[in-house]
Amino acid sequence: MTEPPSDINHMSPEEKRRLLERLLHGKSAAGESRNAGQAGGFVFSSEYLALREKFAEMEQGMAGPVYFQVSEGINRDLTVIEGREYINFASYNYLGMSGHPEVSRAAKEAVDRYGTSVSASRLASGERPLHRELEQAIAGLLGTEDCIVFVGGFGTNESVIGHICRPGDIILYDSLIHASIQAGCTLSGAKARPFPHNNWRALDRILGEERSHCGQALIAIEGVYSMDGDIPDLPAFIEIKKRHKALLMIDEAHSIGVLGEHGAGIGEHYAVDRSDIDIWMGTLSKSFASCGGYIAGEKAFIQFLRYTVPGFVYSVGISPPNAAAALASVKILKREPERVQLLRSRARLFLDLVNDHGFNAGNSRNSAVVPVIMGRTISCMNLYRALKDEGVFVLPIMYPVVPENASRLRFFVNCSHTEEQIRFTVSAIARHYPYNQ
Ligand code: PMP
Repeated sequence: MTEPPSDINHMSPEEKRRLLERLLHGKSAAGESRNAGQAGGFVFSSEYLALREKFAEMEQGMAGPVYFQVSEGINRDLTVIEGREYINFASYNYLGMSGHPEVSRAAKEAVDRYGTSVSASRLASGERPLHRELEQAIAGLLGTEDCIVFVGGFGTNESVIGHICRPGDIILYDSLIHASIQAGCTLSGAKARPFPHNNWRALDRILGEERSHCGQALIAIEGVYSMDGDIPDLPAFIEIKKRHKALLMIDEAHSIGVLGEHGAGIGEHYAVDRSDIDIWMGTLSKSFASCGGYIAGEKAFIQFLRYTVPGFVYSVGISPPNAAAALASVKILKREPERVQLLRSRARLFLDLVNDHGFNAGNSRNSAVVPVIMGRTISCMNLYRALKDEGVFVLPIMYPVVPENASRLRFFVNCSHTEEQIRFTVSAIARHYPYNQ
């Protein structure tokens, strides 16, 4: 057990609380978990315990919580936290659909007509007209044969990959792929190997070594990488997938509604044949102002999922207000593609200004995600705090989400940001940027 330090009078309330906890329960970060396990309690990983300490220290240094801050209204260009209004770059309401009167009205009408839940799996009595309408609208936007909608984006990836791949298969995923795809890999029992970010040559090499030893091969990439705002060379991935007879899955969480003239995603951006990608995945929580995930592709594949994926068959159908909000958003997107143009011109302005100042925006291009990569966590946290004081809300991203030396502020631009808000924000960054980090 740790001895109490002699300068107890100089400890902060949080340090005193932690000391008291250690004295009362004999806890230390390393021993805590093991002791709990032996006593029949939860066993927390040492990574979590270290992270918990880091967050507690961070909160003290930042004079308040950094994460789980409560926004008091709709997250668009602005947000309100503890009664103060901020220019908001911390949420991915890319097309301003969340809070759009037509989207809110559609959700309210759906509640009045169908209630707040469909109260069953769609296979049982949960099917509603809105479900198929939404699926057909997404398939129409993408130009695929069919589509299936799930209750969550994370669960869509986890459940579908976990279901279609099995031991003996191989999954090759971009090293910056989202956690939900990695969770699917684990669930599947297939061999899973990352390839260096966006490096299709490395992927080609690995497939050359591995392809003959496995059953199915699945390549998983994203349309826009959410920490960096960069996009893959999709035609190169398609060529490789065809040559190695592999399946190609693309997660469009951050590219649907953002890339392509009409916001139809990375397929429209590169004008590829939609049938060249086997699994078009996306979420409803970003451009479509809702909650859920979708898989679009060939009719036969979608029907297979409809009858067999555990995360669909044994889960409730997407709720009426969520289905209606997403459907209304897709309809508005089809009617008003100028929202996409506006979003892109705002994001370009942000990126150009960041580059003009010589800040490191990594490889961000064409997307609505612009990181300002700082390196040291402390520099990043100080800039976060300074911007918040100036009335700009953006969140820091640090290890383990990105490498230790690549901490960053990640700016999500949306179409309701004004040029003035963007210019103000970048000049605020310039005023506080720690040039000697
Ligand atoms: N895929 C990617 C690339 C994501 O960024 C996210 C979440 N941000 C998800 C899947 C999960 O989607 P959801 O939050 O809608 O569950």
